[in-house]
Amino acid sequence: MKFDPATSIQQLSAFGEFGGVNPSITDSSTYTFFKSESMKELFESEIEGCFLYSRHWNPSNKYLSDAISALENSEASQITSSGMSAIACTILQICQQGDQIISSRTIYGGTYAFFKNILPRYGITVKFVDIGNINDINDNINSKTKLIYCESISNPLLEVADISSLSKIAKKNTIKLVVDNTFSPMSITPINLGADVVIHSLTKFINGTSDCVAGSISSSKDFILNLSDVNSGMCMLLGPVLDSFRSASILKNIHTLHVRIKKHSKNAQFICEELERLGLKVMYPGLKSHPHHLLMKNMMNPQYGYGGILAIDLNEEKLAESLMEKMQEQNVGLLAVSLGYFKTLFSLPGNSTSSEISDEDQIKIGLSKGIIRISIGIDNNIKHSFDKMINCMKNLKILKK
Ligand SMILES: *Cc1c(COP(=O)(O)O)cnc(C)c1O
Repeated sequence: MKFDPATSIQQLSAFGEFGGVNPSITDSSTYTFFKSESMKELFESEIEGCFLYSRHWNPSNKYLSDAISALENSEASQITSSGMSAIACTILQICQQGDQIISSRTIYGGTYAFFKNILPRYGITVKFVDIGNINDINDNINSKTKLIYCESISNPLLEVADISSLSKIAKKNTIKLVVDNTFSPMSITPINLGADVVIHSLTKFINGTSDCVAGSISSSKDFILNLSDVNSGMCMLLGPVLDSFRSASILKNIHTLHVRIKKHSKNAQFICEELERLGLKVMYPGLKSHPHHLLMKNMMNPQYGYGGILAIDLNEEKLAESLMEKMQEQNVGLLAVSLGYFKTLFSLPGNSTSSEISDEDQIKIGLSKGIIRISIGIDNNIKHSFDKMINCMKNLKILKK
């Protein structure tokens, strides 16, 4: 049978104390042992079902990590307190002083700032490339290169990375391919396409309720064990542990992810086709006009669609700002950063999440100041929201009356 992330998650069964249908929530930072000897053993190597201290591992995060592994078809996963800590721990686990990273230049603003401003302080250099230019990537790989980094669908331009081709380059050079899959859970399964490490900001679609910040790292069992090693694991020693109560609530939300993703995608596809028909400049991988439409079509698990994120370019920043304010007034959605919420969210990536990228670099990568990024909600009647959106556009003379 072909891999299906939703079926894989549905197969999980973990019960709580007294047979509760949800696993019990760990309300402890530390764990007792009958014998001192067993504690010593656990310090040396992991023992299935045994816990030492909640920063190292705890049952709630273990349950959530199993669900993330089921989603991403990985051997194992680690849960972290944010997407950024998942990214930082992964990079620092793989790279040392003197090493080089090859990264897509269109990545999440926080990741870009970490790569550009923080890593060089520790002697790790980052070469930013156009991730669609395989020759450029090949040319930049040298003996110091440890990994290739990209997002499966990039923020905010919605470029799709050719994960299979990137994985071939990585394997040929025995380096790792690290993919941030935050924009496309369920739609894209990077490990099936050859990625070595998959990162999520659970804050977004996977949790889906915009009530907490969390992250995850999925990879081989070995790599995940390295991250929690008591002497050299970045997750263990930098300590970005997620609180159990949050972990438990994300685990419940992940069980409805497939239903939500299908609805996000369906709504976004509808909005994009209609807006494009009206002559607006729309970026969405589900549109035939998108340069990576076929690439995504070949990579994706088709039933989940092309995701809930789209961008429209109004060319002018002032106009984009007015439209967002109007749309919030008319209850189309909320003027807020982040994505994957059940309601529609919109923001200007040029000024907010990608503001870490300098104006000069923004022009270079085609990030116009008039781009609005929209995370479409799971509205039951998307036509209703669309009509309100159109009225706002007519009001501002973006569209003719
Ligand atoms: C939000 C986001 C992150 C950072 O995640 P946090 O949970 O906010 O730390 C990383 N990558 C992408 C693509 C994101 O959208």
